[in-house]
Amino acid sequence: MFVDEAVITVAGGNGGDGCVSFRRERRVPRGGPDGGDGGDGGSVILRADPSVNTLLAYRYQPSFRAERGRHGEGSSRAGRAGEDLVLAVPVGTVVHEVASEVVLADLSEPGRQVVVARGGRGGRGNARFAGPAERAPRRRERGQPGEVRRLRLELKLLADVGLVGLPNAGKSTLLSRISAARPRIADYPFTTLAPVLGVVEAGGGSFVVADIPGLIEGAHRGAGLGDRFLRHVERCRLLLHLVDPASPGGDPVADMIAVERELAAYDPDLASKPRVVVLTKADLVQDPAPSARVEARAASGGLACVVVSAVTGQGLGRLVETCATMLARLSGARAEARP
Ligand code: GDP
Ligand code: MG
Repeated sequence: MFVDEAVITVAGGNGGDGCVSFRRERRVPRGGPDGGDGGDGGSVILRADPSVNTLLAYRYQPSFRAERGRHGEGSSRAGRAGEDLVLAVPVGTVVHEVASEVVLADLSEPGRQVVVARGGRGGRGNARFAGPAERAPRRRERGQPGEVRRLRLELKLLADVGLVGLPNAGKSTLLSRISAARPRIADYPFTTLAPVLGVVEAGGGSFVVADIPGLIEGAHRGAGLGDRFLRHVERCRLLLHLVDPASPGGDPVADMIAVERELAAYDPDLASKPRVVVLTKADLVQDPAPSARVEARAASGGLACVVVSAVTGQGLGRLVETCATMLARLSGARAEARP
């Protein structure tokens, strides 16, 4: 079980009822109508909040209703509108409506928000219905009910760079060597299976790298776990594809292809994402031939290839620089693509 999904019910507040009332004044026997309007109900709003990093709370408390509008009163007093209810969700939460499976919002930036259930309109009081033909209307409207919706919240981690590779390729070790900080992402019930994020400092800026354990574990192929992790990689802008030149199977190029197939099988977009090939464990290399074959294969696919060792530190600086440069270029390209 991963707490990166939650189903909740949200309801806007009901509108307040309009009021039926007549003025009472001294020496005026029959005053005119003065029933006020009901207030509008509050709406439920989801807002991306960087201080929230899990959907866990929504598993324990899955139902929310905004405040109702107050009823109108005499003396033409309108009922107070209900307060909106703002629910804080982690940045990166995608909001689906359960009934239609429509994506209502993608709250991918801090502060972004979406109204998920509108409050009902308040009803009009009898003062509104007065006219030459109807001096003393006894009509008024009831408040309308607030919208009710079931939502599926889905959190995709926001990492800039995702590490992919076969088990033992060196992903966890690399991440621990290049990252300056380990943000706590979530209180995952099974921490050993949680994706691990690292913040990597590069020049003046920093980027986030996700080590996603079990990503390409053949044992889980199609069976779920690998898929659930892959979902987190969808949003990475750059993939580092780690290859151990001393492949246990003896053929690092075959390892590389296996991972490429796995990515493509999950989502063709994932396979065509910008990717850098990283040859790991350079300190152990005695025969240069397997590495050369991986480099040739990378070159034929137009991919950059960096040789590193997490033990000696060889190539790590260059790898971080390569990532930073590529990410900068990618965000530049994205900005240009905007109309
Ligand atoms: P992962 O499964 O891809 O996360 O791989 P790990 O990071 O757990 O590494 C698998 C094994 O390779 C571990 O025993 C590491 O200590 C070892 N390893 C990882 N990187 C290097 C390296 O650069 N040099 C050497 N000699 N061993 C490494
Ligand atoms: Mg690992």
